[in-house]
Amino acid sequence: MKHVLSYDRILSEIYQEIQPFSKVGQQATYIPALAEIDPDQFGMCLHTVEGEIYTCRQADTRFSIQSISKVFSLAVCLSLFGNRVWERVGVEPSGSSFNSMVLLEAEKGIPRNPLINSGAIVLADMLLAHSEDAEQKFLDFLRCLSGSDAVCYRADVAEGERRTGYMNAAIANMLKYYGNLEGDIEQVLRFYCRMCSIEMNCRELAQAFLAFTNSRPFDYGGIRLTVSQVKRINAIMQTCGFYDEAGEFSFLVGLPGKSGVGGGIAAVCPQRYSVAVWSPRLNAKGNSVMGMKALELLTTKTEESIF
Ligand code: GLU
Repeated sequence: MKHVLSYDRILSEIYQEIQPFSKVGQQATYIPALAEIDPDQFGMCLHTVEGEIYTCRQADTRFSIQSISKVFSLAVCLSLFGNRVWERVGVEPSGSSFNSMVLLEAEKGIPRNPLINSGAIVLADMLLAHSEDAEQKFLDFLRCLSGSDAVCYRADVAEGERRTGYMNAAIANMLKYYGNLEGDIEQVLRFYCRMCSIEMNCRELAQAFLAFTNSRPFDYGGIRLTVSQVKRINAIMQTCGFYDEAGEFSFLVGLPGKSGVGGGIAAVCPQRYSVAVWSPRLNAKGNSVMGMKALELLTTKTEESIF
């Protein structure tokens, strides 16, 4: 009962305290489907490992999860391919933007990590090579993980991504050149963009990320991970989950997590809770301004982080 009262109070305090930041930053504008959303929205959901759920504001409004999907594709790939994943992608932070190609060329087509675009494009290639039904299977996994059949791809977002995704196309071509992309470039890019287009709300994301708290066996629709594999996913989120701001997020918040340019952030406090927050206005590095602030306040007020 103690936690019931304090998390509720903490979430409403957080909402009050982030108000000075409500007009800071701008939402992603590179495709109309993202540019057109109302930037002045905020949602948050915290899910404890005991099953208690706390929400704030627009926790039930769906948004584009974008790069948060990279955590899910990593989970599926690790389940299907085990350590063979690490023959094709690394585990080092890139320290550069999500679509940077500089390191990819220097390192001969081996992406620094699975949470930047080049790494996630390799994962998309692996999933497509594994199954003719990769799109449906990925969606089924997410629906199982989040407990919601309403989770879906957004066709207009995926098409917009593909139409304007010149850097992603360049990355896929470079991967092909270095022999780290087996499939057809166009098919791989289409699948990658579909994964970015997935829509979820904070409640569904928090439920999905509960699986990464390592508080229960990871087995969702046949996708199974060991405790050690989940630990490694958390380690990669901690060091690589926030573009070139992973250090800042670690410093301010101290939780493994992943952000997306749709304004969402999902994070976990291992063995304690998962949390999802969403607000479309981004800082210069592409991370949600209010989302970062809310999580910083959460770990400060609760005194619960991995450190
Ligand atoms: N769809 C975006 C891209 O590939 C993902 C951006 C993000 O959320 O990091 O460019």
